[in-house]
Amino acid sequence: MTREEAATAIGWLRNGPVKVHTFLEDAFGYKVADEIMEGLKAAVTALRGPIPDPETGLVPCGNCGSAPIIEKLGAGGFWRKTKCPKGCISTDYEPADSSKITWNKAHGYKEEA
Ligand SMILES: [Zn+2]
Repeated sequence: MTREEAATAIGWLRNGPVKVHTFLEDAFGYKVADEIMEGLKAAVTALRGPIPDPETGLVPCGNCGSAPIIEKLGAGGFWRKTKCPKGCISTDYEPADSSKITWNKAHGYKEEA
């Protein structure tokens, strides 16, 4: 089973019939059932990996969760480095958008072809 298949299976359990919550509630009580359902949500997120910000296209810093920033250098900002604003990690200077790709790849996010 791949990570995506596992995420889909767990996601179905979480988003599927309300009976799953009812079953868990009957067995463990409402509070525990809610915690299990939240745990399933976190598991799906962990299995699927980080999601890029829709505006910047960058995933959050893997260490602190901050939104990364892009530092530009040279004429027209041709050389760019993507870095955590809290100093956790950064890419080297790279041409144009390749630092964005390097940043995302280093954080486990693969662009869809
Ligand atoms: Zn950071």
